Amino acid sequence: MKVTKHIEKAEGKSLFSFEILPPLKGQNIQSIFDSIDPLMEFNPPFIDVTYHREEYEFKELPNGLLEKKIVKKRPGTVGICAAIQNKYDVDAIPHILCGGFNKEDTENLLIDLDFLGIDNVVALRGDAVKSEIYFKPEKDGNQFASQLVTQISNLNKGIYLDQDLQNSTSTNFCIGVGAYPEKHMEAPSLDSDIHFLKQKIKNGADYIITQMFFDNKKFFDFVEKCRKSGITVPIIPGLKPIATKKQLNLIPHRFSIELPDDLIMAVVKAKDNDAVTQIGIEWCTQQSKELIEAGIPVLHYYSMGKAANIKAIAQEIF
Ligand code: FAD
Repeated sequence: MKVTKHIEKAEGKSLFSFEILPPLKGQNIQSIFDSIDPLMEFNPPFIDVTYHREEYEFKELPNGLLEKKIVKKRPGTVGICAAIQNKYDVDAIPHILCGGFNKEDTENLLIDLDFLGIDNVVALRGDAVKSEIYFKPEKDGNQFASQLVTQISNLNKGIYLDQDLQNSTSTNFCIGVGAYPEKHMEAPSLDSDIHFLKQKIKNGADYIITQMFFDNKKFFDFVEKCRKSGITVPIIPGLKPIATKKQLNLIPHRFSIELPDDLIMAVVKAKDNDAVTQIGIEWCTQQSKELIEAGIPVLHYYSMGKAANIKAIAQEIF
């Protein structure tokens, strides 16, 4: 069932959902089930599975030259989605990217998803590969998520890349897109980012999921700006409990997000990462309570394959 339908059916009750990432190559599907099982008691209507594009690795050869190798460390997004739908009978939502795909690859991926009975996707651009500063689309690929949304919307209308196809069927994907309460790191301003977010909705996106944030005011202000700009679709907050001291530097650097001073100082003073995990749970529980009071339709947790802290929060909230 589509995410928008789940929200409609909940009739104002806030839903619980979460996101997992495929395991590193070489691990088996059980590691995924182990990260999902403890959270099933909170009745997630859907589970997101991230997509990880290829990376370049450089290996030094005996003659001193570097050999470039393309590696995909976390394959399996589509297989994991199929396995989740099969085992738990909940909707599994693959993230799909512009990066690494030309439009033909994307169309074929969407056909596979449709055949598997998957009717939700989150459409994203993806980041630049690690060795490059700027995102580069594939030849004949989509450059921005808004173009990927157009391609999916077209398929929903039965418009394939080959316009000579006879009797083609339409897909029926519900399309989620990403957004950034503290603006995307490349965007010159929040207003310009919202301008392009609006384009994604205009092109057919049905709902928005946000990047993580640690100060609810940033989310509420962002929602207000979106509404003022004419965006009416559901906006689902993405939440992540902080769990290690390292994340104090990593999160602002990697995601261009500000951490509130109170949270920073609590983590700095914590004696070890067990204490940080507890601080993260309490902080995120408070955030969740306030978001529920505000009538937010779904609270979406970035579990990153670690269920224990998300479970501790969900026990307080759902
Ligand atoms: P876009 O919407 O294309 O925006 C990218 C940038 O371009 C923004 O700065 C925007 O303002 C600007 N822009 C957009 N349109 C135009 C235009 N026409 N002209 C000029 N500028 C424009 N990454 C993964 O690799 N795998 C995942 O599974 C994954 N899941 C995610 C889930 C969520 C909820 C979020 C929020 C992000 C996720 N990401 C994931 C990260 C995401 O791929 C990166 O943040 C990426 O850099 C931007 O993706 P986007 O879809 O927001 O891009």
